[in-house]
Amino acid sequence: MIDADLLRRLRNDLPMAVTIAALGQQGPPSKMSEGYFRFLCPRCGEMRATVNPRNNLAHCFCCKKNLNNIDLLLTLDYDFRSAVAILEGWLHHYQTQQAKNKTPPPQDQK
Ligand SMILES: [Zn+2]
Repeated sequence: MIDADLLRRLRNDLPMAVTIAALGQQGPPSKMSEGYFRFLCPRCGEMRATVNPRNNLAHCFCCKKNLNNIDLLLTLDYDFRSAVAILEGWLHHYQTQQAKNKTPPPQDQK
């Protein structure tokens, strides 16, 4: 059974731009346009899938489908468990990088 909280974090906490960068050649072509991250919609093939930064969900303005990180990997023929495992690794890596870019949190006072 996959933890619901993990799934929520994979959808919300790993920016789709990071996921697509990590996919590299395998991922869809993407670009920044008018301040939004857009990528080639895997469902209709138009460069109209646009990530909403508030919920990290891509909406395609052509075919009207919504895509999250997990959905994106499923469209690339990953099975659900593999998609979760890969995204979990990327999320961990991303959060490690983010933590390095910030001042470290204060030590725990026990
Ligand atoms: Zn589409």
